[in-house]
Amino acid sequence: MPGRDETFMMRALELAQRGWGKTTPNPMVGAVLVRGGKIISEGWHKMDGGPHAEVECIKNLGREAAEGATLYVTLEPCSTRGRTGACTDLIISKKISEVKIGALDPNPAHSGAALKILSESGIRCEWGILGEKCAGLNFIFNHIITRKTPLLAIKYAQSADGKISRMRTAPTPISGAEARAECMKMRELFDAVGVGCGTLRSDNPSLTARCESRIVKCPKRLVFNASLSLADGGDPLKYNLFSDEFRGSSIVICDSKADDKKIGALSKLGMRIAQMPCPKDSPDFWSALRDFLWNEKIYSLMIEGGANLFGNICRWRAADYAFEYTSATRLGHAALPAFENGKNFKISGDVRALGEDRAISGAIAWNQDK
Ligand SMILES: [Zn+2]
Repeated sequence: MPGRDETFMMRALELAQRGWGKTTPNPMVGAVLVRGGKIISEGWHKMDGGPHAEVECIKNLGREAAEGATLYVTLEPCSTRGRTGACTDLIISKKISEVKIGALDPNPAHSGAALKILSESGIRCEWGILGEKCAGLNFIFNHIITRKTPLLAIKYAQSADGKISRMRTAPTPISGAEARAECMKMRELFDAVGVGCGTLRSDNPSLTARCESRIVKCPKRLVFNASLSLADGGDPLKYNLFSDEFRGSSIVICDSKADDKKIGALSKLGMRIAQMPCPKDSPDFWSALRDFLWNEKIYSLMIEGGANLFGNICRWRAADYAFEYTSATRLGHAALPAFENGKNFKISGDVRALGEDRAISGAIAWNQDK
């Protein structure tokens, strides 16, 4: 049985998740005000640039006074006066008597600052209620705040014997409905989704986030095609990414060796080409990509395959985070492995059952050798 604090914090977490995919690069935050054991108001951070969860929660109280109430908030309130004014000032001015926090601010410069300010004003403070859940929700935000670089994730669905496809030329359905639904939720959360050119050719994906076949969001869509082979014969506009209603969100990433003529030819077709200033077979390629993404305000990228691109990422240990879905079926040795040169990382996270599949997601720990 969860205690009362956990119950109220769980509600605040549910509210926070209403901002799923809409708050980037800000965190998702939810808040509830409680008096006499009852929730008297709720709020959440709805979108980047909008009011903070605490402000929404106090506003939704209407005419009732917040004085003497307890505020539950999933993330430590802000204490620096940004675009919206410090939430600690608001809490103090409304005479809220107690603040219960899920996770502390991940920014080392601010972490714990609100606790100090609020306590000095005589407000009782506590933190760490469902702390791991509250922090985990904002894994992208936590990464960009502490590392100052976009979060690069890989996502793959594999068979029980570690294969991602029966053959190179056509997609093989592997995951069940629950795992596919979670992938769609993640596409909604990430600023961008990327695939290699092989996957573009074999699957012709749309890379949109869909819920019951309705498109809920189209992230930026990246195609990794270092040499711009897309310009060699065949009409690239036959692919969904370059012809559908969201084609303006698609970017082809090439490397320093790509031919200027090909860049010109594809640009003429209306395709956006971004050239990295180094060859793809170098660690600099991935740092150049991170710089490019940061400048584009793309703070998170989920790469969905295929095997060649994963091979390059593993070689340069270029990803931060992984989503792995493993089905119960086997595809046999003739099938294409997810990691042709072996998997040189571990994922720190708990294995979850997701329908027929097993899922694990978390930060990548790269092996020291190999
Ligand atoms: Zn705030």
